[in-house]
Amino acid sequence: MDPYLASLLPLATLDDRLATLKDQLRHVARKQAALDAACTEAQARLAAAEARLAELRADERKHTDEIRRLEALRDQARSALAQGFGSAEAAERQIARCDALLDEHETAALEDMEARDEVGAERTAAQAALAEAEARRAADGPGLDAQHTRLADEQARLEVDRGSRVRALPREVQGTYTGLHTQRGGTALAVLEGDACTACRHVVPYQLRNDLKQGRLVTCDGCGRWLFLRSQAEAVTA
Ligand SMILES: [Zn+2]
Repeated sequence: MDPYLASLLPLATLDDRLATLKDQLRHVARKQAALDAACTEAQARLAAAEARLAELRADERKHTDEIRRLEALRDQARSALAQGFGSAEAAERQIARCDALLDEHETAALEDMEARDEVGAERTAAQAALAEAEARRAADGPGLDAQHTRLADEQARLEVDRGSRVRALPREVQGTYTGLHTQRGGTALAVLEGDACTACRHVVPYQLRNDLKQGRLVTCDGCGRWLFLRSQAEAVTA
């Protein structure tokens, strides 16, 4: 087998493993992010319910203060009327106005109270959702963190290994490999099956197939990848 091919095949296997690791890392990171997002979302939901409750309480307080003020005003008018102070007509007008306004504020305060029940239920639901999201993160988070560390460690180790393998290649092979690796979706090598390149389905001429079997380095005319035989890959990994 061509000595370059003998170094390129393990490098390609290494790059495949690195690609898998990258996918797995992305997958784990997505799961970690989803756990965090669920907590953040539940926190926001709870905060919104609490803000709404505070708003309703403040509004209700405003109405009760106003009710107290109007009741005092109405009492004043009533006692003036009872004791015959001032104009009876003016006192009656004031009582009527107070009654009407009291009615409005009492209705509004009641509505606030009803809304507070609803928002209170929403707050309870949000608290439960937050507790659930936090429990899930507490249960799954450490495992995912450990998995992420393990994958990232392997990735770092393989990157070092890859670096030294790439540097060990002759400069022109190095350049071609790196170029193919970036331009051909991470696969610089393709296996020849029958008479075709498995990466691009290009039919490889007999002469080139023969060269490959003779152990020479052969490039696919279709995609530019280096070709190898399954038996060569097996010989390298064995
Ligand atoms: Zn090809």
